[in-house]
Amino acid sequence: MDRLHPPSDLQLDVALQLLRQAGVAEPKGVPGTNDWMQGLVDALVDLSSRDALTGLANRRSFEVALAREIDRVARSGEPALLLVLDIDHFKRVNDTWGHGAGDSVIKAVAGALLECVRPMDLVARTGGEEFAIVLPNCGPAFGETVAERMRRRVESMPIVVGPKQRVEVTVSVGGAFAPQWVRSTNHLWIERADQQLYLAKGQGRNRVCLEPSAVSIVSSEEKRMLFETSQFMDLE
Ligand code: GH3
Ligand code: MG
Ligand code: MG
Repeated sequence: MDRLHPPSDLQLDVALQLLRQAGVAEPKGVPGTNDWMQGLVDALVDLSSRDALTGLANRRSFEVALAREIDRVARSGEPALLLVLDIDHFKRVNDTWGHGAGDSVIKAVAGALLECVRPMDLVARTGGEEFAIVLPNCGPAFGETVAERMRRRVESMPIVVGPKQRVEVTVSVGGAFAPQWVRSTNHLWIERADQQLYLAKGQGRNRVCLEPSAVSIVSSEEKRMLFETSQFMDLE
């Protein structure tokens, strides 16, 4: 088995500087040992999985989690929900109160979303004022409840953006369930949830739109994938 090179052979300065800058402690133990190197890799993985502003999962780790969930649903048939959430009229917040205030709003919304979910759920910041939540083992009744809880939590939360300055924002939420027993793709699942978000925006914002049924809406592309051999081959 290959041994790890001692640190003198490796260019670790930038990696360590990145951790320091992010306020992450250096790995424990003796530099150069396997344990220390593993600690360094773990810390870098954690750093590259998170969004710097909010500390939430970033787009990259969201994509990984979603693919993992697709795999789990295809094997277990358990229901799972993907929510996509977008702050309403966020441009106005920036234009009225400044970019710093906008950042505070994004952080506050991130915190509010985390308070609404179970430990097994993943909350990610996928873009500027856009979030996605992956909810494993989540059927329609619970899905509706949790999405509404998020919408109401944000709506009722005044956000302090400066001395005596408070901002109130709302969010629109779209959601789609993973088609059970079918191996979908990240792209198709996200597209479905996005369509619901688009409906929520069109219907006036500050609302939740979830795809009505997990079974009847399997797309022709997904049906085709169901009958392709690929998902059965790896069970052999
Ligand atoms: P809608 O209700 O249709 O979603 O309207 P909106 O104004 O929220 O949508 P739009 O996409 O027009 O505006 C999003 C804005 O978010 C534009 C961009 O300047 C701002 N933005 C993107 N990333 C950041 C960020 O990291 N910080 C701040 N403060 N603003 C950001
Ligand atoms: Mg947006
Ligand atoms: Mg928006």
